[in-house]
Amino acid sequence: MSTKAIVTSASPDLFPVLETVSKPCNSKNKIEKVVNWLGEVMDDEDENAAGLSAVQIGEPQRIFLARVKGYQWRVFINPEIISRSRYSAKRVEGCLSLPGVAVMVKRPKHIQLKFKREFDGPEEIENFSYKDSRVISHEMDHLEGRLLTHIRDEQDLKAVNNAHQKLKDRKARAKKRRKRQNSR
Ligand SMILES: [Zn+2]
Repeated sequence: MSTKAIVTSASPDLFPVLETVSKPCNSKNKIEKVVNWLGEVMDDEDENAAGLSAVQIGEPQRIFLARVKGYQWRVFINPEIISRSRYSAKRVEGCLSLPGVAVMVKRPKHIQLKFKREFDGPEEIENFSYKDSRVISHEMDHLEGRLLTHIRDEQDLKAVNNAHQKLKDRKARAKKRRKRQNSR
């Protein structure tokens, strides 16, 4: 049994933490604690889980674990995306904090990330591609308080705006046509 549990949409009183921006973590003690908690929680998770951010266990610190490049789990401390490829790919994503939610998300095919593996370790820069880029981009969103449901809402809004714009364009074209006909 782990000390911490994953905050999900099923716990509305805890949920707001997921929408906060996580803070950089510069305390050795705190980093070790959070990494241990994350590890414990992931041990209880099924092996399809690809990543977990500290904020998802109620600790809004810029730390996450991710399964990338065939590793079991890797620790990312104070990560920062340095660059994103112009090329992107769309895939359906889920989230441990949003049971039952699946959203089609566009993510860069390649990213370059700056991070630390441990408090005393050097700053590293590494490239991640395809699925790994997606997993890390998803976790980076968590650190900004951005969830799949926000992405879905943005997409819905965009679709509505596009539909409105099309209607406006159609009306404008019809008006022009009427004007032309009247002036004949
Ligand atoms: Zn997630």
